[in-house]
Amino acid sequence: MRSHLLNDATAEHYRRSVTEGVERVANRLATTRRPFTGVTPDELAPVVSAVDLDQPLGDASAALDELETVYLRDAVYFHHPRYLGHLNCPVVIPAVLGEAVLSAVNSSLDTWDQSAGGTLIERRLIDWTSQRIGFGPAADGVFTSGGTQSNLQALLLAREEAKTSDLAKLRIFTSECSHFSVQKSAKLLGLGPDAVVSIPADRNKRMQTVTLAAELARCADEGLTPMAVVATAGTTDFGSIDPLPEIAELAEQYGTWMHVDAAYGCGLLASLTRRHLLDGIERADSVTMDYHKSFFQPVSSSAILVRDGATLRHATYHADYLNPRQTLEVGEPPVPEGLRGSIPNQVDKSLQTTRRFDALKLWMTLRVMGADGVGQLFDEVCDLAAAGWEMLAADPRYDVVVQPQLSTLVYRYIPEALTSPTLIDRANLHARKALFASGEAVVAGTKVDGRQYLKFTLLNPETTTEDIAAVLELIAGHAEQYLGENLVHAS
Ligand SMILES: *Cc1c(COP(=O)(O)O)cnc(C)c1O
Repeated sequence: MRSHLLNDATAEHYRRSVTEGVERVANRLATTRRPFTGVTPDELAPVVSAVDLDQPLGDASAALDELETVYLRDAVYFHHPRYLGHLNCPVVIPAVLGEAVLSAVNSSLDTWDQSAGGTLIERRLIDWTSQRIGFGPAADGVFTSGGTQSNLQALLLAREEAKTSDLAKLRIFTSECSHFSVQKSAKLLGLGPDAVVSIPADRNKRMQTVTLAAELARCADEGLTPMAVVATAGTTDFGSIDPLPEIAELAEQYGTWMHVDAAYGCGLLASLTRRHLLDGIERADSVTMDYHKSFFQPVSSSAILVRDGATLRHATYHADYLNPRQTLEVGEPPVPEGLRGSIPNQVDKSLQTTRRFDALKLWMTLRVMGADGVGQLFDEVCDLAAAGWEMLAADPRYDVVVQPQLSTLVYRYIPEALTSPTLIDRANLHARKALFASGEAVVAGTKVDGRQYLKFTLLNPETTTEDIAAVLELIAGHAEQYLGENLVHAS
């Protein structure tokens, strides 16, 4: 069994196994004609259940053969130009290479004595990102498992910095279009059920700052404490960017923590044409970045950045076995301030302990392609969304919600013949499901003002306007078919 352990004696086995795995995936990429096969849970579950986990196959080739049927054949492929569903990106090759290296070496980024150069690389990327944001030299941060964890940590810091420890009095202000992880975090942080104050969005789905100002004033009048304002730079559904400078102004006025959730919009930091959309982000106290969305990185790769690195102390716990306080031996002179913390233990800043070296993927990406290379890809999908919006706006069969700032389009099919709003909802829902079942394309769905809409999240620069036009025709076909059948039944 030791022949399966990765070490000097098994280097050849490692090379062969991993190469074989790479071959299988490369073949899949070369032969996949649709983003999905349309397999149902009922069809696939017995295939997975039939595997006897107590009867190992012994070698990688056999396990890879099996993997073809339990996973690879029916996976949802984000690299396919007609995958237009959620916020998933096709990945760049330098990052995939980084992924292969980081899992083989298996550094853990909690302490210096488990990572060495890995820690320094992560710190360089945190500094690089902070500079792009426009933070000063006091900035710091840490990689996390995703935007959900980054938001949770940001709100933890905000809670600890708040002017009261009476949890029932704390309020978080965020737009009605912000990510649900804000609500989830509030609950995890022990805040009351009324802690999150939802601020309405304007017709472009950006937070209404007039209402934010009024709600902040009301909070003060009622003797409550504004704990944080969470602005979203790229809402999950619409890609809309809240007015950051105005929000920063209000946050300052009320002495409250400003968090910018740029999980989606962070790619703008590398954009060659749209960086200005993030103006004001440098005034945030904390920022969430999801490199695994708009930097074309494999899951997971995310970070939280803070303007004042000292605030990360709220995540610090000194464990004797891991990162003890740097104590003095009897008779030793005190350590001067500048030298304290000279052993860089990232666990001091993180909610996690053992932690992946995800930063390596971004490092390899920047070293091979550069930030401009990433920014160009993101600009391309934003341009594509702008072109897609024009198509939808010009097509009388479709109602499109907002002109995109980033790369999502939210729209719905409206039949020519007058029908009930409920039937239109059902026709759109049916079109999405039928499309998924056919595997021809994958689109997402969401609700706008209680009505069913469809969504394209465009993160693949290989997707063309022809793809968009073709998918819209497929949707129209499925919707009309549904309406045809159901109008007949109704009459
Ligand atoms: C995706 C998303 C999140 C959650 O990030 P995960 O990486 O999925 O945990 C948070 N905020 C916004 C705006 C997002 O789009």
